[in-house]
Amino acid sequence: MPNTPTRTAIITGAGRGIGAAIVRRLVQDGMSVAVLDLDEATGNKTAAEITAEGGRAIFAKVDVTDPEQVKAVVAQVAEEVGPPTVLVNSAGIIRDNLLFKMTEDDWDLVMSVHLRGAFLMTRAVQSHMVEQKWGRIVNLSSTSALGNRGQANYATAKAGLQGFTKTLAFELGQFGITANTIAPGFIVSDMTAATAERIGVSFEELQKGAAAQIPVRRVGYPEDIAHAVSFFASEAASFVSGQVLYVAGGPKN
Ligand code: NAP
Repeated sequence: MPNTPTRTAIITGAGRGIGAAIVRRLVQDGMSVAVLDLDEATGNKTAAEITAEGGRAIFAKVDVTDPEQVKAVVAQVAEEVGPPTVLVNSAGIIRDNLLFKMTEDDWDLVMSVHLRGAFLMTRAVQSHMVEQKWGRIVNLSSTSALGNRGQANYATAKAGLQGFTKTLAFELGQFGITANTIAPGFIVSDMTAATAERIGVSFEELQKGAAAQIPVRRVGYPEDIAHAVSFFASEAASFVSGQVLYVAGGPKN
């Protein structure tokens, strides 16, 4: 195998949950990482755990919906860690409600974090990838992209990310850049814990009910998603682009 340079990966929403598991996995894969999150406490903790174990990580606070912050943070990562050539857009929020109760703010906020956030981050990072003639973009969609009761805003945003990713694959392929989407099913995280609270069941009950509906009869964990990201971000995955991988313990259609 020819020697490959150490890659710098940016992961958004990386303080906790799926994003934090992706950080840990990409460090195991030999990458340097930039942990980006709104929340300083969790973001600093995730980055500190990596550096304590001898990995290379920085934390930077950013709101992915703010173009000036996004521009500044990408420049900071390039300067302090190296040109970012792996980008994982994992920052996300939910504001679930049935359509007749959904507010304009519920709609706008969800669109903004998922779609505007992924757009701004990708636009800011792509110049580094083009310059290096190598890049890996992984966007986090969801099985909810296929429709999910109470999630008109989230389902729309997650379906939009699939179209966004395919378009990136068309535009950026000629520069050695791939773009792929991972659509997780039920993953144990603060996000699904919040769903349990909203619908008034215990988190254990929610997980048990979800597992019964999943062909492999278990719920997913952040590491399941990190494993798939690791594949898309790898050197060897250069001929895989524009795909949507459902990581949901069974098929989705
Ligand atoms: P999570 O535990 O709620 O973590 C999301 C992270 O994103 C949080 O650290 C949050 O920061 C951060 N974030 C939110 N808005 C942000 C913004 N404007 N700028 C920067 N960071 C921001 O969620 P998760 O379960 O790990 O989900 C990760 C991704 O997978 C999301 O895109 C989600 O939609 C998707 N997904 C999750 C599941 C699941 O079952 N969990 C299933 C399918 C898809 P704060 O701490 O400040 O809120």
